Amino acid sequence: MPPPTPAEHPLLDHALSIVERDVKAECGDAGGLRLVTSRGEVFVALDDGRFHGEPVQVRPGDSADKIIAVVAEAAQDTVMGVLWKVWPECPVHHTVASVSRSAGESAAARGKDAVSWRCGAKAGPHTVASVGSLPGDAGP
Ligand SMILES: [Zn+2]
Repeated sequence: MPPPTPAEHPLLDHALSIVERDVKAECGDAGGLRLVTSRGEVFVALDDGRFHGEPVQVRPGDSADKIIAVVAEAAQDTVMGVLWKVWPECPVHHTVASVSRSAGESAAARGKDAVSWRCGAKAGPHTVASVGSLPGDAGP
């Protein structure tokens, strides 16, 4: 019996909807996301089917946070590779933020902010926003 495909993971659609909020925050209607399967692998693509970068790698026991982080990274590859856009951009340093999971922090620090976009500016790394709550500039 073949292993389940990543697209069958129950948490994948949930993660995609959360990450899509962030893409739409900065890209507007161009920021719709969906999953596409190519050669047995799953990619995070724009609504028009274009994608860039590595496939999504998830396992049956992966946590919701893990999958949100994986999908956010894949979405970032696609947005930057297809739309040629720095995304998400730190509003302070105008550098690209990267996905960060707070696995090493206390339990109290996890929960809502467990997966975030983090700016790595040399002047002082900081959290830009939780994944799914990027303020953006494209309006509602
Ligand atoms: Zn910054």
